[in-house]
Amino acid sequence: MAGLILFGPPGAGKGTQAVSLAESFNIPHISTGDLFRAAISGQTPLGLKVQSYLDKGQLVPDQVVIDMVRERLMQSDTSGGWLLDGFPRTIPQAQTLDNLLQEMNQNCDRVINLQVPEQTLITRMLSRGRKDDTEAVIQDRLQVYHRETAPILDFYRDRNYLVDIDGDTTVDVVTERIKTALADLS
Ligand code: ADP
Repeated sequence: MAGLILFGPPGAGKGTQAVSLAESFNIPHISTGDLFRAAISGQTPLGLKVQSYLDKGQLVPDQVVIDMVRERLMQSDTSGGWLLDGFPRTIPQAQTLDNLLQEMNQNCDRVINLQVPEQTLITRMLSRGRKDDTEAVIQDRLQVYHRETAPILDFYRDRNYLVDIDGDTTVDVVTERIKTALADLS
């Protein structure tokens, strides 16, 4: 059983690391960004509601994200653990996650904070070429990260399960660093 949160600015490599991490712990990878993009490409009511936020690099309103994550965490495949990627992204989301986990009788074992300098983030996102990876939208997402998301670090640092990982290197080296930081959980 491992409850894990992958945390970090846009472009830090959360999605890339999440894949191998979820596989090695055999837990579902829950990416709010992926869930929103799937809803948008499927043109579901949720997708239509969130599209303009993603296009502009703004946060989807808390209640919309929270309802979606709650529903996802309530599915049976999370009973042995889960890996959250892209959530929580605001203090209210972090507080709601606390309550939700309590309801589910589960807890978060570790928050992995991927640290990458801003210039590397920008270079990575520009080369990725996702629809929201234009220069102007990237700047907006970085601003939103500093204003809304980074303050969560203090919220988790108080609890001693936050681990900082230097993510400014190759994918494989970052994977090894994360595995080392989680060695006591497997
Ligand atoms: P990245 O971390 O590279 O910015 P994501 O795929 O995690 O990319 O997120 C893409 C977009 O989805 C965000 O810019 C935002 O609009 C929306 N989003 C994802 N997760 C959340 C969240 N927890 N709260 C609000 N909006 C979110």
